[in-house]
Amino acid sequence: MRLPGDFNPGSTGGYSRDDAGGAQQLLQQGIALLADFQARLAAQATDGVLVILQAMDAAGKDGTIRHVMSGVNPQGVAVHGFKVPSAEELAHDYLWRYAAAVPARGQIAIFNRSYYEEVLVVRVHPELLANQRLPGRRAAEDGQNHLGVWERRFREINNFERYLSDNGVHVVKLFLNLSKDAQRKRFLSRIEEPEKNWKFTGADVRERGYWDAYQSAFSHVLSNTSTKWAPWYVIPADSKWFTRIVAAGVIANALLDIDPSYPTVEQEAHASLKAARHQLEAEDSMGKRSSKTAARKAHLRGS
Ligand code: AMP
Ligand code: MG
Repeated sequence: MRLPGDFNPGSTGGYSRDDAGGAQQLLQQGIALLADFQARLAAQATDGVLVILQAMDAAGKDGTIRHVMSGVNPQGVAVHGFKVPSAEELAHDYLWRYAAAVPARGQIAIFNRSYYEEVLVVRVHPELLANQRLPGRRAAEDGQNHLGVWERRFREINNFERYLSDNGVHVVKLFLNLSKDAQRKRFLSRIEEPEKNWKFTGADVRERGYWDAYQSAFSHVLSNTSTKWAPWYVIPADSKWFTRIVAAGVIANALLDIDPSYPTVEQEAHASLKAARHQLEAEDSMGKRSSKTAARKAHLRGS
């Protein structure tokens, strides 16, 4: 797979902006479906869902999370954003901080950036790899040109995701595919609109200078880590309204595949519920009887 040629960031799947009303309805349907299935997922509590979002800056990761998750119960969802690793995180193996945030059974976790940064930003800026203090012996075994490191990481990531999926964590990977020109326009609006200024730094433009290197790194990621158990979904990102519909659809589809259901109350549990009811009702009538007795006694005393 090669970017940018193989996928069209501007695609809207045949829908046009005029369909925006219909698109809004489609998004609402997706959101409602997600809310329903998330409640079942939580009740069944056997499977977790890990949603991974990767993209170039300004592709709309935050907005997608905000919209797509707007209907679900906050108790069942956690969003984790991953930034430049701290000293403590750098002191550990590279999957450590991500493994700690894998969702529990019944939960959905969203990774806003993920361990894929370890083969994206770290690949584009190899000096970051030096900060990770990998054993020199290992690096030597991997060959002199660093290429071996990335291949090894692809293998490790694939194995990690296979381990997760074997153990009930469904990994749903979304790549929001933005064009270079759409990024330029979004950066400009972040500069022009004061309420968007906080989202923009000079570093973003510097990073944009590495556009081709990122496209190449993403191409390697898509080619090497799209597996049966954890495929990548490439979502066109130049039209936000379309990105959100597709993202909601992909996540809803993952939940449909799991098809979680509310646990049924078995006969035995029914019997125990019945017994509990009798006990509670008995307490109530005893309470009434004893208050009646107390009233009669008071009456006899002539008060
Ligand atoms: P943002 O998501 O815009 O708040 O930016 C987070 C920044 O953290 C981005 O510039 C990422 O490239 C950077 N980042 C995330 N994960 C890593 C990582 N593992 N190593 C180095 N930089 C990272
Ligand atoms: Mg940013």
